[in-house]
Amino acid sequence: MIYLDNAGTTKMFDECVEVHKEFSCVDFFNPSAVTIKSMEVSKKISETERFFLQKLGASEGNVIFTGCATESNNLAIKGSLRTGNWEYVFSSGEHPSVFNVAKALEMEGRKVHFVPLLKDGTVDLAALESVLNERTRLISIMHVSNETGAINDLKKISALKNRLCPKAVLHVDGVQAFMKIPFSLRGLSVDLYSFSAHKIHGPKGVAGLYVKNKTALKELFQGGGQQYGVRSGTENVSGIMQFRKAVEMIDVQKNLENVRALKQAFNDAVSLKGIKIVDFGGSPYIECLQFEGVKGETMLHALEQRGVIVGLGSACSSKKAGNRALENIGFSKEEIISSVRVSFNAYQTLEEVTLAAKIVCETYKNIVERVAK
Ligand code: PLP
Repeated sequence: MIYLDNAGTTKMFDECVEVHKEFSCVDFFNPSAVTIKSMEVSKKISETERFFLQKLGASEGNVIFTGCATESNNLAIKGSLRTGNWEYVFSSGEHPSVFNVAKALEMEGRKVHFVPLLKDGTVDLAALESVLNERTRLISIMHVSNETGAINDLKKISALKNRLCPKAVLHVDGVQAFMKIPFSLRGLSVDLYSFSAHKIHGPKGVAGLYVKNKTALKELFQGGGQQYGVRSGTENVSGIMQFRKAVEMIDVQKNLENVRALKQAFNDAVSLKGIKIVDFGGSPYIECLQFEGVKGETMLHALEQRGVIVGLGSACSSKKAGNRALENIGFSKEEIISSVRVSFNAYQTLEEVTLAAKIVCETYKNIVERVAK
């Protein structure tokens, strides 16, 4: 099998399994208890929190460990809501775990702005500027798009916030950026940043939310008051430690170079009339292919028969027709329906992706020929 849906999820590093065993079967103690063993586990979590802060380039703040980035995003947005005449700003290309929360806020009668995307898939900064004002409570804009790989400029977004609504909370969904593209939160006005383990070869069921000022964030549910009272519930100790292990194993710069080479090799080998590579010039980990006259879904299933796995966009929304980001960028319905998402990981080989590209071409040719008969 050649797996090209790494933006959906990734294969976990084998090394995480050892860590799972250690923190589930040996150091399995509840970090909230007061025994020496428990306090040792609690200390490891605190150290790991500092480790993540350093990886994010954050000079202050905390990390709240959650069950998934969907939870991190919900906590960030719902935890920042306030009563009164406030406004909430989102990009139109957000992942459903942000976008659907925004839609729900709108349904509740709150003032919500959706900022459109430009042709390159990034958020339209002029449109963003036009909606920010002193009543803006929250801005939530993703770092890297899970559908196009487009990278939003956090420096420019921070500067707009500082100038137009310095008291607003800036949340960034960094799931497709963390440990994939080099960045640092230092010097930015980002208050909340979501990231997830299973997108970077860690386990499913654990994610994080960077919080610059935890007192400003309201908890989603009540309980024992763990994690500064922001996220009650016994921490997923093994998951957190496995997440750390995955991060420790990644060399962002080296991986980026590998993925650039993989993408180049793949694109060079996909040269067939009717297949269009849609590269937004953002993260090399993600790109789209459009197949003239053939549905993306048909290609996905036909490719799976031949051992190549691709995606249809966001895994969470892929069962629904359409792709919000591509729609917002201005692609036609036909182009959107004919799209698949290809996403790489740094540990694949040039031979593997070149073979996948050849299979893509052959599969498309076979379908087109069959339809023409
Ligand atoms: N945000 C983005 C940009 C994503 O790509 C995803 C996963 O597809 C999520 C959020 C949700 O992550 P999780 O699966 O950890 O809930």
